[in-house]
Amino acid sequence: VTPTRTNFIRQIVQDDLENGRHQRVVTRFPPEPNGYLHIGHAKSIVLNFGIAEDLGGICNLRFDDTNPHKENVEFVESIEADVQWLGYEWGGRVRFASDYFEQLYGFAVELIEKGLAYVCDLSGEETRAYRGTLTEPGRDSPYRDRSIDENLDLFRRMRAGEFPDGTRTLRAKIDMASPNINLRDPVLYRIRHGVIHHQTGSEWCLYPTYDYTHPISDALEGITHSLCTLEFEDHRPLYDWCVANVSVPCRPRQIEFSRLNLEYTVMSKRLLTQLVTEGIVSGWDDPRMPTIAGLRRRGFTPGAVRGFCERIGVTKADNLVEMGILESAIRDELDASAPRAMAVLDPLRVVLTNLPADAPAAVTAKNHPKDDSMGTRAVPLSEELWIDRSDFEETPPKGFKRLVPGGEVRLRNAYVIRCDEVIKDASGDVTELRCSVDVETLGRNPEGRKVKGVIHWVPAETAVNAEVRLYDRLFTVPQPGTSGRDVREDLNPDSLRVIPNAKLEPSLGAAKPGDRFQFEREGYFVADPDSLPERPVLNRTVTLRDTWAK
Ligand code: ATP
Ligand code: MG
Ligand code: MG
Repeated sequence: VTPTRTNFIRQIVQDDLENGRHQRVVTRFPPEPNGYLHIGHAKSIVLNFGIAEDLGGICNLRFDDTNPHKENVEFVESIEADVQWLGYEWGGRVRFASDYFEQLYGFAVELIEKGLAYVCDLSGEETRAYRGTLTEPGRDSPYRDRSIDENLDLFRRMRAGEFPDGTRTLRAKIDMASPNINLRDPVLYRIRHGVIHHQTGSEWCLYPTYDYTHPISDALEGITHSLCTLEFEDHRPLYDWCVANVSVPCRPRQIEFSRLNLEYTVMSKRLLTQLVTEGIVSGWDDPRMPTIAGLRRRGFTPGAVRGFCERIGVTKADNLVEMGILESAIRDELDASAPRAMAVLDPLRVVLTNLPADAPAAVTAKNHPKDDSMGTRAVPLSEELWIDRSDFEETPPKGFKRLVPGGEVRLRNAYVIRCDEVIKDASGDVTELRCSVDVETLGRNPEGRKVKGVIHWVPAETAVNAEVRLYDRLFTVPQPGTSGRDVREDLNPDSLRVIPNAKLEPSLGAAKPGDRFQFEREGYFVADPDSLPERPVLNRTVTLRDTWAK
């Protein structure tokens, strides 16, 4: 069954189709190419593309590129790649708001001719002062009553580059006393000399504002439902004013929903940019980043990201989503799909003192405990093994079920072993355990006693040496940078722990970047693009259990 009425926006859209207001739904996703997409954008992408996909409509990808000094082609390309990675297709070619600069200019002339826009010579500071406040109405600009002819002439000369930055703007003539500040003669155009726009080069020195560009771009593309986040609710009257007062082919309907906020991370592009440019993370795709590129490198799948977005839903209520919800989306998927393997992160040498000459050269391990279709693999058996240091305790705490001096434990997929001797170095640190195997226990329970613990291991001779990167939350508080704090004060100093010499079972030597595994008892891991042929690098995607619960 196709989910359609699962949120209030889908209900509106489906009603509009059923009662014939629209024949076909057209949505758009309008990112500004001033950074990489993050999980908040994914919410908007899943909403916009998902509606089009489920209801036989189309969704445009349109870059909102009216602030050229912060934008670039790297961001454009990364955004296209991330939308595709999530599994969506946009309608026709990629669009840019800048495709419409000439038409937008023409509509501005139309507004001037209708007496609905004027050229204003107030400086930025003066414009703000004249605008008033929530409690105090604004004052009319002294330039508000310029003649249409003078406005047309000045606007043409603004475009021709006759006036320096900041000297003049084009403003809508609406209502300086409106209780909605957005309607107090908002600026439609500002002068910006010397910027090289990534799409239009140096063709323009006059740039339209977002509030003017967005509604008209929507209308030109025949968007039926323009979905945006709640902070634009107060801008909706201006949106409607723009499409009502210029000769566009249709009037899209703006509907607002609440932004996604996620605990223990930040989502503002300003802060994400700061993390990248100050080298706090390794780049936009650092696996600790909430970006799509970061989540991909962390080992997330498109299905897990989409599933998460569906699970959190779409409402008008402000919310702060727990990181555990995002993690459980990928954990559930990987539990079903990731092949199991053994990896030792903190290796301690074990020598099997009595491995019989006729012991099998390898044991057979299932790739998935519940899915036989995933097959089996051979794990070579040898006299020397690695186990995890934490699976041995000389003086065990109560209830410790793993290896202790004189005690027994099962090696996963292999024998029960007993620790006969503990070897230490001069400083008293354990360097090696000498153990004997019970040769009767391969695939069989030991006679006359119970062995509870099962530990994972890796054959020493054929082990693959790997770098393992363990990630934790990037910030130590649920809402970093709030109550006047600098986000840098809230950084988690242990958000990345690198293990330079982990030991993997030999089958993992062939891991290619993007391959995902469950390392038994350790968590889910993905091979990183930094991997080298003899030396894989593995990122921990998520632990086996939710470690976020407070
Ligand atoms: P910022 O304010 O950090 O610059 P933005 O909202 O301006 O972010 P855009 O590139 O303009 O970023 O966003 C593109 C689309 O994605 C917009 O429609 C926006 O509403 C939506 N979006 C951005 N962040 C979120 C979020 N956290 N949750 C839901 N939708 C979001
Ligand atoms: Mg922005
Ligand atoms: Mg924006």
